[in-house]
Amino acid sequence: MRKYVIMGVQGSGKGTQSQFLAADLDIVHISVGDIFRWNVQNHTKIGAQVRRVMAAGELVGDDLVESVVRTRLTDHDWNFGFIIDGFPRNRRQAEFFLESYDIDGVIELDLPDGDVRRRVLNRRLCVDCGMDYNLIGNSPKVAGQCDSCGGQLVTREDDTEEALAVRLRDYHTETAPALDLFRRKEYVFTVDARPAPDAVQEQIRKCLGLPPFEQKKGPGCA
Ligand code: AMP
Repeated sequence: MRKYVIMGVQGSGKGTQSQFLAADLDIVHISVGDIFRWNVQNHTKIGAQVRRVMAAGELVGDDLVESVVRTRLTDHDWNFGFIIDGFPRNRRQAEFFLESYDIDGVIELDLPDGDVRRRVLNRRLCVDCGMDYNLIGNSPKVAGQCDSCGGQLVTREDDTEEALAVRLRDYHTETAPALDLFRRKEYVFTVDARPAPDAVQEQIRKCLGLPPFEQKKGPGCA
């Protein structure tokens, strides 16, 4: 059983890195942002509650987030473990999580704010399967169309200059203290998120003591 948390600013590759790990280790990838986006797309009550907040790049209230996470983890289709992405985002959420679950490791993807802007403003998302593209380094074969399922690629509603500024501010003021809480318990592995996705994955696996992803040399972890 493996239980991991992956943290990092928007565009640092949390989703991509989680998917690599989840597919290989047979663990469940839980993305709180994806759960909210699904609710918005499907016009649920939760969707109606979070839509405006999300579009502005603000954080959803802790009570709702904790109840969504608790429900998802209680569903318990994670016999081999899980990797949770986008949670916790502040100290209170981190405390809730530490009280409720044992954690095997927290991966912090480190990306300078300048790179975040470049990545996020060039990010596109498949409306059907949710696959992420980046028009700089990972563009689709056919413009505007998902390589994997042929779905339409769109810009996330919160990938704007204004929303990004809010999300970066919140990351530095709210999420960094949550990381400090985990750091005190010596759970945190910091990985440079600037290299290509497979090199970042290789580094994560080295830090977590997992078998290699690919035979490439990556940068060090703190
Ligand atoms: P993400 O896909 O992780 O960037 O999340 C998209 C949006 O969902 C965020 O900008 C928030 O509005 C909301 N959200 C996701 N996770 C959380 C969380 N742990 N706490 C509060 N809001 C969240």
